[in-house]
Amino acid sequence: MIRVFICPHCGKVRVVSKFLEAQCYDCGTAMETCRIPYVDWVELGEAEREQIRLEYWKKQQ
Ligand SMILES: [Zn+2]
Repeated sequence: MIRVFICPHCGKVRVVSKFLEAQCYDCGTAMETCRIPYVDWVELGEAEREQIRLEYWKKQQ
């Protein structure tokens, strides 16, 4: 199973297989699972991915 993780601190996205948890390469923060499944994520364009990141940040604030 492949998962998409997003960093709540800096917005970095990682695609991770095997592991249920991931840490951000940039800031070391524990990442959270993105609501978008991997199969959908790979279909998205850069603009759509950016929109998801922004949406995620708004929820954090
Ligand atoms: Zn980060």
